[in-house]
Amino acid sequence: MGKIGAQIIKVDKKQLLAKLTEAYADEWLAYYQYWVGAKVAVGMMRPEVVVELLEHATDELRHADMIANRIIQLGGEPILEPKDWYIKSGCGYATPSDPSTKKLVDQNIEGERCAIKFYAKLLDFVQGKDLVTERMVKEILADEVEHEDDLEAVMDDMNKR
Ligand code: FE
Ligand code: FE
Ligand code: MG
Repeated sequence: MGKIGAQIIKVDKKQLLAKLTEAYADEWLAYYQYWVGAKVAVGMMRPEVVVELLEHATDELRHADMIANRIIQLGGEPILEPKDWYIKSGCGYATPSDPSTKKLVDQNIEGERCAIKFYAKLLDFVQGKDLVTERMVKEILADEVEHEDDLEAVMDDMNKR
């Protein structure tokens, strides 16, 4: 981090890095939950559900990329050991052991709701105090809100059949 870039951060950097690390672990687990869910999905509206899950997987991986870049810029290190994803994660991982599309969508809605709550809190933490992280968090939060809404719409369609 450059000298002035570091000076304009008005939050505790260690706390910020801990929160970003949690987000980073969550994004990787969310990515995999969507990605592998799309592979194993069976049942109602499978083609539509698979498209949606894969779109969201791509978004979660992009979020992980954005967060890793910010962690490095702040002088931190992204998690190097995947088994630490479980340890650092806040929202966790819902195993798609029941691959029915309804169950998958339901599990992913829960994940999105957890993510929205997390990023809303993180936004409170950085708002007006770390403008660069603030902008990133707003962008990610908008995606998570869209994800929840998309999945709820898919669930509504499935419930009407
Ligand atoms: Fe995400
Ligand atoms: Fe999401
Ligand atoms: Mg979508």
